[in-house]
Amino acid sequence: METIDIRSLYFSELEKIIKEMGERPFRASQLYGWLHQKLATDFGQMTDLPVKLREKFAGQFELTVLELLEERVSLTDETRKYLFRLADGNVIESVWMEYRHGNSVCISSQVGCRMGCRFCASTIDGLERNLAASEMLEQIYRIQDLTGRRISHVVIMGSGEPFDNYDAVIRFLHLISDERGLNISLRNITLSTCGIVPGIYRFAEEGLPVTLALSLHAPNDEIRRKLMPAAKAYPLPEVLKACGEYFKRTGRRVTFEYSLMKGINDGRQEAEELARLLEGLHGHVNLIPVNPVKERDFTRSDHKAILEFKEILEKAGIAVTIRREMGRDIQGACGQLRRSFLSRN
Ligand code: SAH
Repeated sequence: METIDIRSLYFSELEKIIKEMGERPFRASQLYGWLHQKLATDFGQMTDLPVKLREKFAGQFELTVLELLEERVSLTDETRKYLFRLADGNVIESVWMEYRHGNSVCISSQVGCRMGCRFCASTIDGLERNLAASEMLEQIYRIQDLTGRRISHVVIMGSGEPFDNYDAVIRFLHLISDERGLNISLRNITLSTCGIVPGIYRFAEEGLPVTLALSLHAPNDEIRRKLMPAAKAYPLPEVLKACGEYFKRTGRRVTFEYSLMKGINDGRQEAEELARLLEGLHGHVNLIPVNPVKERDFTRSDHKAILEFKEILEKAGIAVTIRREMGRDIQGACGQLRRSFLSRN
């Protein structure tokens, strides 16, 4: 019999199981509080449960806990990067960032990724496996515990494509925003996708007030297909139509992520084309100077080119920001720290 991953269960599911075990219903509330508010790492810590019951639970349930392997603190800002080991030995990374509006954690949704974006380190070895909801939660729980600071914002922008692990991501979103748990507002959560069209429509149907970020990176399909293999399956007109639908359904403005790569997508012409492409979409463009990855040969755009690119969009009436660069000195880009760890060991 497979043991139940107890930290991935909804409260209603836990209640049902506790009842079936012949235990009193209030045990479910106690247990859930330990799992999602007190962030317990062991049944032995659950001191308001009888010892016998703690032992029974320990025998029947699997309690997912991430083991800290490495913490890197940026010298230039307050960013911290964490490397965690999963129960099966796989390694994932998460990032903690301090903003004026609160503390934010960037989580991974998969071990590796199979989307194949050319500039991204997470995809070099392909997909290893999906993460369970508990493993996504634990990235936040461990970091809140380690920093002692309340986390108010979450971005699903680490390694992995969230819509390639759809059900577990939805489960995660419900659990992290549960008032019996950390109660993080869905409005403070951003999910980033490379543009899996059916995933965007399905997600719009969920009716969750989560911000959708689309990894755009190009003003046309010709350039986009060279950078992102997923673009071959989902052409831009379809992707943007889906984003428009997401805005209509949820009222949330879509963020378009655009990593600037020198000589590839950062010219005046591309900026003008991008402005035309996004006209009337009510979106917001986030310009990100590409993080050069050792295994890939992309160079970041010059400062002047970045400012010019931004100005062209602004003049066309498109909302645009340049992403504040954080944690560059600690291998802040998607999948970089995990890769350097894997090659060291
Ligand atoms: N699979 C999802 C989420 C993970 S990647 C997605 O594609 O959106 C999070 C963001 O970081 C994406 O916009 C991705 O394109 C970008 N990214 C990945 N590697 C990068 C790099 N080396 N430099 C800049 N941005 C990068």
